[in-house]
Amino acid sequence: MLTINKQRLLDDIESLARIGATPEGGVSRPAMSDADAQGRAWFRRRVEDAGLEFRQDGAGNLSAVLSSADPMAPTVLFGSHLDTVPNGGRYDGALGVLSALEALRTVRDASLALPAHLEAISFTDEEGSLLGLFGSRALCEHLSEQDFAYARGGKSALAEGMERLGITTSTVLSARRYPTDITAFVELHIEQGTRLEDAGVDIGAVTAIVGIRSYMLRFIGTAAHAGTMPMDRRADALWGASAFVQQAQMLVRDTFTPGVMNCGLIEALPGAFNIVPGEVRLALEFRHGTLERLNHMEDALLDLAERIAAEFHLRLDREMAGRDAPALMDERVVQTIEDAATALNLRHTRLMSFAGHDSQEISMIVPSAMIFVPSVQGISHNPREFTHVQDVVNGAATLLQTVLRLASAGNGESGD
Ligand SMILES: [Zn+2]
Repeated sequence: MLTINKQRLLDDIESLARIGATPEGGVSRPAMSDADAQGRAWFRRRVEDAGLEFRQDGAGNLSAVLSSADPMAPTVLFGSHLDTVPNGGRYDGALGVLSALEALRTVRDASLALPAHLEAISFTDEEGSLLGLFGSRALCEHLSEQDFAYARGGKSALAEGMERLGITTSTVLSARRYPTDITAFVELHIEQGTRLEDAGVDIGAVTAIVGIRSYMLRFIGTAAHAGTMPMDRRADALWGASAFVQQAQMLVRDTFTPGVMNCGLIEALPGAFNIVPGEVRLALEFRHGTLERLNHMEDALLDLAERIAAEFHLRLDREMAGRDAPALMDERVVQTIEDAATALNLRHTRLMSFAGHDSQEISMIVPSAMIFVPSVQGISHNPREFTHVQDVVNGAATLLQTVLRLASAGNGESGD
């Protein structure tokens, strides 16, 4: 069985982490920043030093390619992203790209005759410093002129960043790929949760990336004098909103596990010691991996909010703030990951991803799945993000074996 070069991979992780290093031991390479540009240039050198073909598409996605002798062969695509959140960790994204590069070098070193082109890719702006899932959306033709106008990082910051990368709105639109040319996509990533660590399992085969829905809820009562208005005559919006937060988390835990909910922002108005809150704005977000459960969760949570508003003599106003559908991974690719892990004598389990990833976009046009490795204590988007060396190696080895199996699929050859 082909084996990756552990030290070469660890050295790459170490070298890349120095680009954008922060005093806290983290990494800041927000998409299209100077540090990101340095990281991208470093990646290009690593690809070319390895004697692999380097490509950059119109959306700034970077690829290392090892071509099959057959020009008509399909492509197996695998990778992740090199950008980070501000003061993030060294594994989120980078692990998937650098392991993909290491897998390519391993195959090249072994001089394997390939029945498919192998392409290791780094997607532009996964984290959303400017737009979010920028490169993967471009590749799937899911980006439009309108998206550029509503960049979450600001329109001018996006324009500046795109100029730094040498891309324009029209080149971005040219980055689309034809699904028929790509047989599968695989992304290795840290779990960013505690399920694998808690279960003592080496590898997670991701079956779905959760859908996310969010609402801005407004509980509307009557502002009043905090001293003179009798308690039993008050329509206190915060009493209702706080009751909702408590009951909603119990409802989700009792009925929708492994679904999750969060109220991440609350504001009482007018906001003073001596005024009964007349209005509360509450940001509600919830996630689940199946559309049916997500729909039930939505009905149940909104119904709960209505009932509580009535109970506290309040009016409820709600505005939808976001709606991302769950992304289903491909059963065949998931099974290939499991077979690869089994062949490597690694313990594996199926799980959902509760964070967003480029795979959610790519899975809409190409059969896709993700490989998760444990994150110590689930810490991520934080300088303390850490994955043990053995888990890094397990992840890269599983990625390599998965890619070889996917490349051979249909040729009747085994991946190893
Ligand atoms: Zn990531």
